[in-house]
Amino acid sequence: GEQKPQINVMVLGAGVIGLTIAHVLTADANEGRFKVSVIARDLPEDINSQAFASPWAGANWSPMFHADERRFRWEKRTVEKLREMIPAGLAMDLPSRLYFDYPVTEEALYCDGIAKDLHLSNVSFAEHPEVQALVELNTVSINPHTYLPALKAEIEKRGVIFRRHRAASLDEICQMAGEGGVVVNATGLGARSLAGVQDTKVYPIRGQTILVHAPGAKHFIAKYEASPKPEVLYMIPRPAPSGEALVGGTFQPGNWDLSVDWNTAENILENAKKLIPELSTPSVYIKHHNVGLRPGRDGGPRVETEICVWPKKSTLAPGLPQPREKRTLVLHAYGFGGAGYQQSWGAAEEAVDLLKQALTT
Ligand code: FAD
Repeated sequence: GEQKPQINVMVLGAGVIGLTIAHVLTADANEGRFKVSVIARDLPEDINSQAFASPWAGANWSPMFHADERRFRWEKRTVEKLREMIPAGLAMDLPSRLYFDYPVTEEALYCDGIAKDLHLSNVSFAEHPEVQALVELNTVSINPHTYLPALKAEIEKRGVIFRRHRAASLDEICQMAGEGGVVVNATGLGARSLAGVQDTKVYPIRGQTILVHAPGAKHFIAKYEASPKPEVLYMIPRPAPSGEALVGGTFQPGNWDLSVDWNTAENILENAKKLIPELSTPSVYIKHHNVGLRPGRDGGPRVETEICVWPKKSTLAPGLPQPREKRTLVLHAYGFGGAGYQQSWGAAEEAVDLLKQALTT
């Protein structure tokens, strides 16, 4: 058969979303149709960079009550994919205990086809009178510090090139991709500041956490409160052999502060110890205090295609001859808030489907 020319794709962003989209684009099913480069200010090995969200996640799947069919579909698919990675050690089966300070029903948990072994009980604890329901279920967790480099290594084997670069504008990357090329905008919180995107619906949701050495911690534990507060209680154990668990934390919309607040740190640990006795055993110690910013977006994630016309006249000095307008297809995929990992595979597959549709029209 005749070989079609490859389509040049520039993925802007190397967080979990950019990497997963690059992975899907280079899957066998696409038969080498896309030639993919990843361009990013922060790369997967930059696990201490606070300039992107992905290193700071737990990360696990947990019910988040976005009453939205699209996100439910993404999560169902993602959990299926993550479970496939358990034998390779990249993901771990995660028994979970969710405590609610309000009554819940199984339907309200929207876990159908995602969580396994769901069991709901209406409990009362003498020491936690506020707790009204306990939900036990089984989900999955990953360690971003091993998962991101593993994704990168896998797509590098498929010929994906990585380049560290901070883009000033969408035009700049469209120019790199050229006419007939594609740009994937997976810049997370960066979509707010990237000229040509300037999405003011994007905002940070600050998450302060504590990474502990706690090999005895086997369960995801979380407390769900009827009236959301800036402090939320959870602990996410990470796959062996790390022996680590992430204890949280805060959920502070609009807060850009990247520094550790020591009062908050104290509260996090104090609250967590009340509900999680494993944290009071002598072998537990603190490894890091962390702050990461989740890429929130009013109305939820933006996953859609758009035609970018470039160069924008406003970027050129007036009076100079204007170059011919060019067009490049852009696939936006950002604004995943606190759920970027748990939606990554489903969202990336849908994004690539949208891209293929746009390429045929
Ligand atoms: P990011 O990881 O922020 O990546 C953005 C990329 O774009 C980076 O490479 C950055 O350098 C690049 N970029 C941006 N602007 C530019 C530019 N101008 N030029 C070049 N490059 C640019 N999610 C879960 O699913 N489960 C969890 O348990 C979970 N727990 C979390 C706990 C905490 C404390 C935090 C902070 C987050 C948590 N999350 C969790 C959310 C998750 O981390 C994010 O949703 C996810 O990482 C977003 O990925 P992303 O690829 O969209 O963005």
